[in-house]
Amino acid sequence: MLWAKEQAPADLVFRGTRVVDAAEGIDATLDVRVDRGVIAAVGERLDANGHRVVDASGLVLAPAFVDPHVHLRTPGREDEETIASGTAAAAAGGYCAILAMPNTDPVVDSAATLGSLVEAALREAEVPVGFLAAITRGQSGEELTEMGELADAGAVAFSDDGVPVRSAGLLRRALQYASVTGRPLALHCEEPTLSRGGHVHEGAVAAELGFAGYPSVAESVMVERDLALAAYEEQPVHILHLSAAESVAALRRAREAGVRGTGEVTPHHLVLTDEAVRSLDANVKMNPPLRAERDRAALLDALRDGTIESIATDHAPHARHEKEAPFEAAPFGVTGLETAFAVLHTSLVRPGLLPLGTLLERMSTGPARVFGIASPRVAVGAEANLVLLDLERQWRVGEEPFRSRSRNSWLLGEKLIGTVALTIAGGAVVFER
Ligand SMILES: [Zn+2]
Ligand SMILES: [Zn+2]
Repeated sequence: MLWAKEQAPADLVFRGTRVVDAAEGIDATLDVRVDRGVIAAVGERLDANGHRVVDASGLVLAPAFVDPHVHLRTPGREDEETIASGTAAAAAGGYCAILAMPNTDPVVDSAATLGSLVEAALREAEVPVGFLAAITRGQSGEELTEMGELADAGAVAFSDDGVPVRSAGLLRRALQYASVTGRPLALHCEEPTLSRGGHVHEGAVAAELGFAGYPSVAESVMVERDLALAAYEEQPVHILHLSAAESVAALRRAREAGVRGTGEVTPHHLVLTDEAVRSLDANVKMNPPLRAERDRAALLDALRDGTIESIATDHAPHARHEKEAPFEAAPFGVTGLETAFAVLHTSLVRPGLLPLGTLLERMSTGPARVFGIASPRVAVGAEANLVLLDLERQWRVGEEPFRSRSRNSWLLGEKLIGTVALTIAGGAVVFER
């Protein structure tokens, strides 16, 4: 279900690195040896087996990251991103697997379109990539896609991301079909009669700036509806880009009641609030919008306690001229693959708000579990999917060119602490600083 181009398997030894893998219960200084792309030994003073030795003292080695929510913009907007550029950005961000959303032009709603993406990934993907297919034809919300055929063609999951599935009846039928395919639904929760084209969280900042408000309840009412349908059909649903405290509370209640609901949160919703919109920088315009401090705090609590299992970037590249438009005219979305770890390390781990092990788990094993991807881990016999992190290095976002074709980062010019030093994905070294 994941595809990448052929690459030479890695032969190397990480010497004296702090290995952190919460799922395996490891946090210790060790050597890790990779033979032909597979973790061959984890221990002290390992024989190098003739391999290249990476002096990793003072660095952290962890399972590489999995991003369940990326917009690769292909087919249709290759000026903004391609499989090659998006997966290169992912490699630089420490990812060993990413999942691409189907809201492209054309929409990924047929086995033929999906098949051509798979072929392109086999030619150009630097890290393994999986594709979601649309729930409804053309994401128009009217007619279901051939979900069985799309699953056979390799769809990892189904989503109409970008827009909600407006009809509860249609979503119910999608859940029934999804149960046959065994693939989860990933849902963009927005009640359009409440969001009404709003650009900014409905609150004091929107009122002061005179922007149309997009209230929290526009999200939470759909989260409640979708979890109710998941409960009724006894099927899993994954809630994309949670932003509101009420949505988090609904997810927590549903999970406690045994509903198979999972959720994800983005770095920007964990770090920023609608106060950032005062800058009128279009790079803080996204859907759902940045919300209030109480929402941000609720998201962080839920990430800490596991109610939210996954961090997703919702990497959404946009052409420079589009984002240079006035705030209200600019499109929604920001990039994130190349900065996710660094900003969360800087803003949450260093101040003591989130343990490093929890951050690493929510960026790796958490999303892998939700989407049925083999969990990256530091264990003998596992395919090497590893990220080497330098937690001390300081850098400024944008000082080096982005691998992404777009640079609509909300962090441009910000100083961050912590960086990816090396990434192994699918057994191959795909990035090295
Ligand atoms: Zn969305
Ligand atoms: Zn998205």
